[in-house]
Amino acid sequence: MRGVSPSARLGGYTFQSFMPSQPRLQALETILGRPPAPVAAAGPLEELWASDVFSLEAMKSALPKPVFKSLQRTIKSGGKLDTSVADVVAQAMKAWATRRGALYYAHVFYPLTNLTAEKHDGFIAPQGDGSVISEFTGKLLVQGEPDGSSFPNGGIRSTFEARGYTAWDVTSPAYLMQTPNGITLCIPTVFVSWTGEALDKKTPLLRSNAAMDHQARRLLTLLGETEIARVNSSCGAEQEYFLVDSAFTALRPDLQLAGRTLFGAPPAKGQQFDDHYFGAIPERVQVFMQDVEHQLYRLGIPAKTRHNEVAPGQFEIAPFHEAANVATDHQQLIMTVLKATAKQHGFTCLLHEKPFAGVNGSGKHVNWSIGNSTQGNLLDPGSTPHENLQFLLFCGAVIRGVHCYGPLMRAAIATASNDHRLGANEAPPAIISVYLGSQLEDVFQQIRSGNLQGSAKAALMSLGVDTLPELNKDPGDRNRTSPFAFTGNRFEFRAVGSGQSVAGPLVVLNTILADSIEWIADQLEQRLHSGLPLEEAAFAVLKQTMEAHGAVVFGGDGYSAEWHRIAVEERGLENLRTSADALPVLKRPEIRALFERTGVLSPVELESRFEVYAEQYILAIEVEAKLVLRMARTQIYPAVMASLEQLAQSVVAQESLGLAVDRSQVEQIAQLSQQLLHTCQQLQSDLDAAPAGVDAHLRHCADVLMPRMGAVRAAVDGLEQLVDDALWPLPTYQELLFQR
Ligand code: ADP
Ligand code: MG
Repeated sequence: MRGVSPSARLGGYTFQSFMPSQPRLQALETILGRPPAPVAAAGPLEELWASDVFSLEAMKSALPKPVFKSLQRTIKSGGKLDTSVADVVAQAMKAWATRRGALYYAHVFYPLTNLTAEKHDGFIAPQGDGSVISEFTGKLLVQGEPDGSSFPNGGIRSTFEARGYTAWDVTSPAYLMQTPNGITLCIPTVFVSWTGEALDKKTPLLRSNAAMDHQARRLLTLLGETEIARVNSSCGAEQEYFLVDSAFTALRPDLQLAGRTLFGAPPAKGQQFDDHYFGAIPERVQVFMQDVEHQLYRLGIPAKTRHNEVAPGQFEIAPFHEAANVATDHQQLIMTVLKATAKQHGFTCLLHEKPFAGVNGSGKHVNWSIGNSTQGNLLDPGSTPHENLQFLLFCGAVIRGVHCYGPLMRAAIATASNDHRLGANEAPPAIISVYLGSQLEDVFQQIRSGNLQGSAKAALMSLGVDTLPELNKDPGDRNRTSPFAFTGNRFEFRAVGSGQSVAGPLVVLNTILADSIEWIADQLEQRLHSGLPLEEAAFAVLKQTMEAHGAVVFGGDGYSAEWHRIAVEERGLENLRTSADALPVLKRPEIRALFERTGVLSPVELESRFEVYAEQYILAIEVEAKLVLRMARTQIYPAVMASLEQLAQSVVAQESLGLAVDRSQVEQIAQLSQQLLHTCQQLQSDLDAAPAGVDAHLRHCADVLMPRMGAVRAAVDGLEQLVDDALWPLPTYQELLFQR
């Protein structure tokens, strides 16, 4: 059955399609017939802002003064929450939430899956006489008890001892989640096992921040500071995503189940024209973005930037940076809101790192810095020599951290989906290096070469004054090819995946920084004890740091083959191409020691993370492999056979008339269909032959299943370009990327 000519059916519209099959045609009709989405009405920003958050301000007006003071102390200093305070807070929180229509509350936590989990409970309390009252106590606020064994825990909790606890994280405010199904009071929590092991991503984040704070204050003390507030890490995460019309998603089992296209030939027009980045945002998308932003504002999430990304159908949203812990919760909320809102607008929001082969992938650039209220941003070069010294030491600590633990940073971004992006010549390579920018790199090279020795103070001063204040704070001096780049007053971890929680990368950054500051502080302390003046001692430590760790600084083209060679052969850096290479880093003795020493993860907790992430990687790839087989056999092959039959009949008919016939296309289709069956058989037997043991299984996925899926795909994509478009069941790249 041939598709009906779309222009006949939908005269006047423009199409991103040739002669689509019936289901695709219906999808096109749905899309083109979508009524214009109304722009959601919203009041002024000041009214909208944080209106659904039980913020400090809301608490201040709702709580008795001493209670508020006590709570504020806990939030600021990170101490324990007084139990008598919890009851009062719970009452106020319940009153605030129920007044706004909430019937339920939920402890929200972040299991090791990159997702958000919630356990909902009603405020309802039956009174025995048939009546009910709403009830919420300090105990219910502070502690919850979901089933610890139902979340991936890497063997920490077995099902027969399933107790897991959530505990309110007072540093992250409670908020109301408004959905068409009702309003829920959400309480951000940590999630731990009955024996106190962290089962989530937030607990280690809080611990890593405390470890970093401890060492940073120690170094600041050595530098002569006397008033030092708690040091916190900040994060501003840029989120890239794709929007595809949901009428098309409905026809793509791969997008539904795997979040990426497992098949799809390149369109005639891709992103070659570079005409999408910062281009005008399509109207329908703009309406969607506004809707998202209004919701984020209500949740107190400072959405700041929005624009088109490099690929067609790709966009970005970036909130203003916040304390890492809050930013992490907000990042999770952003992903939730993006997905839910997209649905309401007839879109599917794809957070996968590589939904389309050959098209730019999506990352989540994690902008990260550390600072406090007394010294400010410790990664800001500033303009006075004294501040520069402080900056140089903290920046030097970052450089050392990346050099010592680059493979750990790679492991923190290792997922099956992010592997498609890293090193794919449009995203940072899998080799972790630091980009400093030419001026700062020069300063550090000078320090390394010892140019600053000698007449000590004057020379040091002149370095500080002459060079550093000119530091280019402007993003003009950028290196898109670096996985980890200094950008004026922060580092940007560009290799993080778009679908990931930012907690893991932040834990690693905070922890390796804590370790490196400790090392630098130790070195500095030794020299100060031996009588060296502060500046001389500091520059000696910096020189030593650069000599030992300068190899990780790289300002050239990270995509080039030359860098891949130099990095590994001359600089001794590791190129961990796949997650199967990167995840075992978590089992290295020095990594275990790092996490144990800093108190961020116990050996048991670390081991469980390896187990969980390895299992997720294996699951993701095996699901894809099964899906490849199912789609190839039940969707693609029948379409190919139908097309072949039509063409063969036509050939026979022409030959019966004695016409000269060119069979080349028919033969090519026949040959590719053989290839399709053959590669499917191979993939099936490889899938059935999974080896025992996690490490071997990881390798099997990376080295055997992935290339096999690629082989099936090559046959399918070849066929897509030859087979009758009216029979092709899957929406094409052209349709998915351009039709909106
Ligand atoms: P670009 O696309 O040029 O990298 P964006 O404006 O899209 O920049 O995003 C920059 C992100 O970095 C924002 O989230 C911003 O709030 C964040 N940021 C800025 N300064 C800091 C800082 N000191 N620490 C952490 N994040 C920061
Ligand atoms: Mg950006």
